[in-house]
Amino acid sequence: MKVYLDNAATTPIDPEVVEAMIPVMKENYGNPSSIHNYGRKSRAIIEKARKKVASFINAAPSEIFFTAGGTEADNMVLRSAIDDLEVNHIITSQIEHHAVIDTAELMNERKGVKLSIVNVDDKGFVDINHLTQLLEENKDLKTLVSLMHANNEIGSLLPLKKVADLCNEHGAYFHSDTVQTMCHYKIDVKELDIHFVTCSAHKFHGPKGVGFLYINENIQIKPMITGGAQERNMRAGTENIHGIVGLLKAMEIAHRDMEGHEKHIKGLKYYMVERLKEVLPEIEFNGDPLGESLYTVLNVHFPSSEMDEMFIYNLDIEGIAASGGSACSSGSAVGSHVLNHMGVDMDSPSIRFSFSKYNTKEEIDYTVNVIKELFAVTV
Ligand code: PLP
Repeated sequence: MKVYLDNAATTPIDPEVVEAMIPVMKENYGNPSSIHNYGRKSRAIIEKARKKVASFINAAPSEIFFTAGGTEADNMVLRSAIDDLEVNHIITSQIEHHAVIDTAELMNERKGVKLSIVNVDDKGFVDINHLTQLLEENKDLKTLVSLMHANNEIGSLLPLKKVADLCNEHGAYFHSDTVQTMCHYKIDVKELDIHFVTCSAHKFHGPKGVGFLYINENIQIKPMITGGAQERNMRAGTENIHGIVGLLKAMEIAHRDMEGHEKHIKGLKYYMVERLKEVLPEIEFNGDPLGESLYTVLNVHFPSSEMDEMFIYNLDIEGIAASGGSACSSGSAVGSHVLNHMGVDMDSPSIRFSFSKYNTKEEIDYTVNVIKELFAVTV
């Protein structure tokens, strides 16, 4: 049996999305910047998509800027905030995606921007009191707060509205990397009163290499990628038309039955928690899987065994794709900066299982049985 449980890394593309993209690739090859009929048709497709994408998050079309994915959108926020919005202080956390934390560190090193790291508890939740304290202590600086909505490794959720209110009270800009939550939860930028959110289509069964950045209409920044006047002069480069159409289609599908998908996926996650506890009572979970946690992610801390270093490979041999969270199990020399920062014991393996609408209960049973057998022969 083949089981794909690495959906936080990327999701399989929905066949309906492929179907929507093919005719665009075949027929709409006109450059959207060209003024002839071919170009105008391509332009119309993009603008129609922008309007619909915006409507899903209650934004205005002029607030949506298509990018080549989440990394670019995150970079755009941090870099432009410093260059164009006079931001001289960034507050972020050590458990952000590398697109944010590495960029923030670089801005600190290269541009001398003050960097404050907000405390995160052992379950991966941001300490809101500490965030408030950092905002108050730095009242004289222009601050950008960049905190992700859900952590991609452990799933811990940020109370978005609470943080947005706090930032607004303190005159700070607020960016949330919503790459793992967009199209898994309803996001309403007006209600949140947030300045920036970022999106990547391949996290919700869309194509890779396309996403968008939402920028609140009251904020003016200059392009990070310079060249042509695409995206209303905000992001140069010929638009990825079929990618944008695929992103929109994936968004439409996700919003068609978001509650149904959540119910199904959450059910699988809770079921896996129960089954794992049954077969390995000493098992632990990183984060707070049954609490305020992204329903697509389950990060499991396994007891130490002889196969520690080989665990993820053993799963792979049995057809199960998951992600390693500690140095030994991921095969990476560095290990997870998230688990490391949370103080998780890195000597025994942590594995992230992440689910999608395509997973089944049978796949969870198979996975748990494989884990049970692997431990039976090695412990
Ligand atoms: N932010 C988060 C939280 C992610 O999980 C990812 C993907 O791994 C990214 C940003 C980067 O997105 P992309 O792969 O589209 O560059």
